[in-house]
Amino acid sequence: MNKKVLIRTYGCQMNEYDSELITGILTTAGYGVVTDPMDADIVMLNTCAVRENANRRVYGKIHDIRHKHPGRPVIGILGCIATNLKNKLLEDKHLKIDFIAGPDSYKRLPEIIQQACKTHNKIADITFSKIETYEDIVPERVEGVNAWVAVMRGCDNFCTFCVVPYTRGRERSRSVKNILNEVKQIAREGFPQVTLLGQNVNSYHDNSRDFADLLAEASKIEAIKRIRFMSPHPKDFSNKLIDVIANNPKVCKHIHLPLQSGNTRVLALMNRTYTKKGFLDLVDRIREACPDVVLTTDIIVGFPTETDNEFNDTVDVLKKIEFDSAFIFKYSQREGTIAAKKYPDDVPEEKKTARTVLLNELMQQTALKKNQAMISQTCEILIEREGNNRSENGWAGRTNGNKLVLIPDGDYKISQLVNVKITEATPHLLRGIPKS
Ligand code: SF4
Repeated sequence: MNKKVLIRTYGCQMNEYDSELITGILTTAGYGVVTDPMDADIVMLNTCAVRENANRRVYGKIHDIRHKHPGRPVIGILGCIATNLKNKLLEDKHLKIDFIAGPDSYKRLPEIIQQACKTHNKIADITFSKIETYEDIVPERVEGVNAWVAVMRGCDNFCTFCVVPYTRGRERSRSVKNILNEVKQIAREGFPQVTLLGQNVNSYHDNSRDFADLLAEASKIEAIKRIRFMSPHPKDFSNKLIDVIANNPKVCKHIHLPLQSGNTRVLALMNRTYTKKGFLDLVDRIREACPDVVLTTDIIVGFPTETDNEFNDTVDVLKKIEFDSAFIFKYSQREGTIAAKKYPDDVPEEKKTARTVLLNELMQQTALKKNQAMISQTCEILIEREGNNRSENGWAGRTNGNKLVLIPDGDYKISQLVNVKITEATPHLLRGIPKS
């Protein structure tokens, strides 16, 4: 009988896409995929090393499975955490991990698993590839509205706080032709929306063709209604890319533009390669071309040596730009990064907390103001799911700018585009009434 595997995914969208690739690889190799860990012969946790709590969650999950499982499943750890923590994971006597495999090793998983099951030896495959893009693998996608497509992998930017260049290796892009073939297949499968992914998605290139060219080409595929992308780096945001976003109705007017800090000295310590002014100028250029754009961001507070005055620059940028939402993180050292080696984590925890609270309060006010400004407007939403929240019937969808909109029950279906008049706003969502 075929062995049964379970894959649990933690972390970013790239990890979700990688789990779809891994599922494709393992089902082709004859493994069955199950969703209950108790039914699995092999349990794999595909995890992220970027955030500290992802590690903790994974450790807790492994203990849980070991404790409850009636047998002794083979357990593997995949993804960034495997390349970040390497043999520490295998040597941990409490975790009892059987194998680890990094983001460039997934094609070898069938033989790694076979070996781990047969020999009970601990196996580590965390080598990097300069060329692996998995462009010959057909991912087994989770049903729904959106299909992920990784157009490039790795990162060459070496932001000093980030583990990605060490856990996912150097940048490499797939060919335009190969990506377009995948998007056409996605369209045939009935997905109305595609999200193009890359750690540094707008540094994508295929010889002379860049990310703007790829977006323009992908939007010619008829059955695709919406195209999103994640995550761009401000330094690679060209005017050509802004033009393609502004002038192409299928490219959604939502840009997640990570700021990280509003202070130029801190940005230099982070190796972000832009200044406060450069970032503000970029947002001006984007808004000039695309006035309705929804902008969201990531912020790190309490980076080593960040003073109160320097933190106030971040507050200033947030007030000037008025992002629609922001993910705000307290700085914490990630093992192996330049910041962990060079800079002591010297901003006191209470200060980091106070700064985080202040930014969250500011963002709540800004998000509410932005959402309230949409009341009485009519927006097109793409229906994503039935049941609009925990306690109500209805439907939930997203605007072109990626705002969640709840509508009352009615005769709708998933993937339908519906025009909705916005009637209510909170900082996190909108409510509306469909217009006939
Ligand atoms: S651009 Fe910076 S933050 Fe983003 S993945 Fe690369 S190194 Fe990490």
